[in-house]
Amino acid sequence: MITPDDRRHGSRAGYLAGCRHTCCTEPNFRYQKRSKIRFQREGTQIVPAAPVRKRVAWWAERGVSINALTAAANLGSGTISELITGERDHCLKGTVRAVLAVRWEHLPDHALCGADLTRARVYSMMAAGHPLDWICEQAGEGFPKSGVWRSQERVTLGTARALQAVYDAAPLEGPSRASAVKARNKGHDHPLAWDDPGVPAMPFGWSPRRTPTIGRPGRPESTAVENFDWLVSQGVTPARAAERLGVQLDSVRDKRRQLERRAS
Ligand SMILES: [Zn+2]
Repeated sequence: MITPDDRRHGSRAGYLAGCRHTCCTEPNFRYQKRSKIRFQREGTQIVPAAPVRKRVAWWAERGVSINALTAAANLGSGTISELITGERDHCLKGTVRAVLAVRWEHLPDHALCGADLTRARVYSMMAAGHPLDWICEQAGEGFPKSGVWRSQERVTLGTARALQAVYDAAPLEGPSRASAVKARNKGHDHPLAWDDPGVPAMPFGWSPRRTPTIGRPGRPESTAVENFDWLVSQGVTPARAAERLGVQLDSVRDKRRQLERRAS
């Protein structure tokens, strides 16, 4: 909440920070009027609706509903529905712009998205040796202990975000070999086997590499070198890679020399 001595009073920033007195509602009102005029000037052009349909389909593939999307785009729900059903094939340029501008971060925590990536994150953390209890604990209230996520088609974005945060922060090797062996025997991939462990533009849309990796995990020492090289190839600094793997930088280098000697 904004305090009385905040320097943002008297500007729209004050309004955005929560002030509802005229000192800040006035500038906000002026801004809205200006942008409305601009929007009307540019946004009333009639254009083909194909980009909207394509974008809605893109979101639908990721389990995001039209309602969540229209709310985030600040549009009436009828507008997009008519475009989807084909009742209309043209719309305002402003509508296209509003729909294309929606990003993951604009969707609220209570909106739903596909559960597949969240599930894959959990399983791959298990395949990396993190026990499920630990994962639940790290995710806190954002992740139900009940295990419903195993069968759910969709989860809330709040849950997906909580799990993504745990996934991003989790060391690439966990302490439990039993958890790793069990998960890998069930065919779950270690995070390093993913084609795309999180492209920033679409954090919840991703596809796992399709080659099965069932079987015994590799010897831990040589795996560490492989993992290390992989991380470095992804642009991670050697120091940070060693940190994520929970190993000493020197020991990785020693191990590599040893492997090379053995190979020659
Ligand atoms: Zn104010």
